[in-house]
Amino acid sequence: MPTSYFSRSLLACAVVVAVTAALLSPSANANDAPAATAATAKKTEVKKPEIKPVGEASAVVPAAVPAVATAVAPTIATAVPTATATATTTRERRDPLDIVRERLAEKLGAGRSTSSGGSGVIRVISNPSSAPPAVPTPAPAAARSKAYSTHATHTTQATSHSSTAKAAADAHRAAVPDGHSTAAHAAHWDYQGEGGPQAWAQLKNEFATCGTGKRQSPIDIRDGIKVQLDSVQFDYRSSNFRVLDNGHTVQVNVAPGNFIEVTGKRFELQQFHFHRPSEERINGRLFDMVAHLVHKDIEGRLAVVAVLLDRGNAQPLVQAIWNNLPLEKGDEVIARLPLDLNELLPTERSYYTYMGSLTTPPCSEGVLWMVMKTPVTISAEQIAIFSKLYPMNARPIQSGSGRLIKESN
Ligand SMILES: [Zn+2]
Repeated sequence: MPTSYFSRSLLACAVVVAVTAALLSPSANANDAPAATAATAKKTEVKKPEIKPVGEASAVVPAAVPAVATAVAPTIATAVPTATATATTTRERRDPLDIVRERLAEKLGAGRSTSSGGSGVIRVISNPSSAPPAVPTPAPAAARSKAYSTHATHTTQATSHSSTAKAAADAHRAAVPDGHSTAAHAAHWDYQGEGGPQAWAQLKNEFATCGTGKRQSPIDIRDGIKVQLDSVQFDYRSSNFRVLDNGHTVQVNVAPGNFIEVTGKRFELQQFHFHRPSEERINGRLFDMVAHLVHKDIEGRLAVVAVLLDRGNAQPLVQAIWNNLPLEKGDEVIARLPLDLNELLPTERSYYTYMGSLTTPPCSEGVLWMVMKTPVTISAEQIAIFSKLYPMNARPIQSGSGRLIKESN
């Protein structure tokens, strides 16, 4: 599972796919999936030239698109001539994002809604003969991505999340006003209402596993078998970080260089984020919150460490994150001081482990979960701050389906 999921994500490097994804499924980022961030990172780099006023576009493209974008550049190049050649005063006065949306829509065989009154809503016209042009392009991009060191990928990710997420949020806002039937609206997943967990599987083909999966997370952890488990080796260090409000949670993107070692494999931390209340239960018990630390190994397999957060003393590391909360959804704040994730870990590190899934769409399986048995504390004030943003962002408990749960002594 993870392999195909990640390769698909890598394919998303090409401009049109990336920008289209931002337009059509603005909220499809999986909180638990590092690939989503990696893919979005590349979107940003190529989006930059597109949101410049049209007159500048051709001059900007070669300079602003970094080395990554060789595969992408041709796609842009084909799009640019119309823009530059026909730039008129009328066009220049309009929102450049609208123009980009329109141009993309034309390219993808979509028509601008005549009733939208210029709100930027795009309705995709079903046109089997004009499959998204970017689908064939990504091959070289994907190959290139594979060659990246984790470090490079991570850096890109860390430096460019912000405007992508913002663009996605903007696209979504633009789609909502009259967008009852837009793809963007249909694909919006949430924790309640029509986009709630019961509907995730129907929102998009890619989300089907949310409904059909047999090894889904979270679960109520009980009846674990007590065995001698190797402890998780945490190799965390003081790291720079950025705080992103991605519309589903507060996510912290950490600079590269933080690892865990478990089951003989080394996984690098990609990001961590929070849920309220805790998604996982232990013998039926819920906790106030949970932090999910998402790691990935060199083959793209995911390992998530869950640290339960229980009401009590304030948690300094959480405070450092809250101090850097973005004011708006889709925004990201670069923190001035680094954080050391060792501070978030409980002193006593026995844990439960089982195989599960991402707890957000696309609910991909094959995720190794390690849930720390001992919670760390977080103050009532700190919980209240998160609640203002996300009063409830926990997926309901999924069936254990006879899965083995191991528990360290
Ligand atoms: Zn999570």
